[in-house]
Amino acid sequence: MSGSPVWHPFTQHGLGEPIPTVVRAEGAALHTADGRRVIDAISSWWVTTHGHNHPRIVAAIRDQAERLDQIIFAGWTHEPAETVARDLVALLPPALTRVFFSDSGSTSVEVALKMALGYWLNRDEPRHRILVLEHSYHGDTIGAMSVGARGVFNQAYAPLLFDVGTIPFPAQGREQATLDALERACAAGDVAAFIVEPLVLGAGGMLIYPPQVLGQMRAICMRAGVLFIADEVMTGWGRTGTLLACEQAGVVPDILCLSKGLTGGAVPLAVTMATEPIFQAHYGQDRARMFFHSSSYTANPIACAAAAANLAIWRDEPVLDRIAALARRQAERLARVADRPGFAGARSLGTIAAIDVEGPPGYLSTLGPRLLEYFRARDLLVRPLGNTVYVMPPYCIDDADLDAVHDAIAAAPAALL
Ligand code: PLP
Repeated sequence: MSGSPVWHPFTQHGLGEPIPTVVRAEGAALHTADGRRVIDAISSWWVTTHGHNHPRIVAAIRDQAERLDQIIFAGWTHEPAETVARDLVALLPPALTRVFFSDSGSTSVEVALKMALGYWLNRDEPRHRILVLEHSYHGDTIGAMSVGARGVFNQAYAPLLFDVGTIPFPAQGREQATLDALERACAAGDVAAFIVEPLVLGAGGMLIYPPQVLGQMRAICMRAGVLFIADEVMTGWGRTGTLLACEQAGVVPDILCLSKGLTGGAVPLAVTMATEPIFQAHYGQDRARMFFHSSSYTANPIACAAAAANLAIWRDEPVLDRIAALARRQAERLARVADRPGFAGARSLGTIAAIDVEGPPGYLSTLGPRLLEYFRARDLLVRPLGNTVYVMPPYCIDDADLDAVHDAIAAAPAALL
């Protein structure tokens, strides 16, 4: 063995790509061990909403670590968890009355799927089928992969994945086909839930669809009595311009998954929020009906303290104004390159901007590593999805840094094609 023993995620070590060491971060800037300042244009995998090392989140973590680091959460509780749960219930649509903690976006999805199936079983109407949207991504654990798109990244694990019903993505001009397919699939029976990424399918390629379609999909599920799970792991916390993407369609899901920006991106934490009927289906004197899920670090106090600080920032600071300004500048920068040769499919929503660089599509596009290297050489953390380049920066990024990212994108085709 040579070099580091660390095995990195979604990394082909055999390609020998450099793996920089980051020693410090602040706002939208990362500082590497070899003295470079790198602009974090993707919020370190879409988590860092307010910027790295926000002083209020840092203080909350430090303070909590000195008082209570960890406590079993089955049968015990603590103030940070209670505060976060109360604040979430107060902030989000009133129908979402219950908060279940876990540790990552993937586990929040696992919990959502288990809640949905448990709901139907405990009502003595067992249902098994889950409907999903084409091109979706919900995480890399087994259940989350099962409800996500199939491809090279999960083909080896196919024997572990369960069957789902896939509804075509509502591409422009094809929205009615999506709605019809959903209506038919719901009517076929045995459908426990439909899980969707609201408005933007992230890892599937930053694919955006209109709020009206989200609203209509919700209405179809409501009419059919199918639970509606909104996975806002990426879209939540202002990414699409509103606190939740669902807001833009006036949609309230039965189950909501949140993670990433829940702690401002500082430490791992997730919640799955549910309506009262879903909680009540698990409630009673019968221990066999309880919700059978836990992990050692459920509602870790330090993570909850960070989440409480994030919620306080949302309460006290003009976060949505920052997002609106960022969204305007990004949309304007994107519009400048949209029609240039070498580019196609410019799209943006809120703080998310994406464009396809002409070249082989798909996750394993040969253009991907070349684009990655192109941005790395310019001290930019941009991690394309195949030939799709996207920007999803922390909300505190300043104009100069944002322009540097978009200048590099604008020059990419000429440099690479
Ligand atoms: N759901 C969505 C919509 C996501 O974008 C992601 C991650 O990117 C996940 C779930 C999985 O989250 P995590 O990587 O924290 O497990």
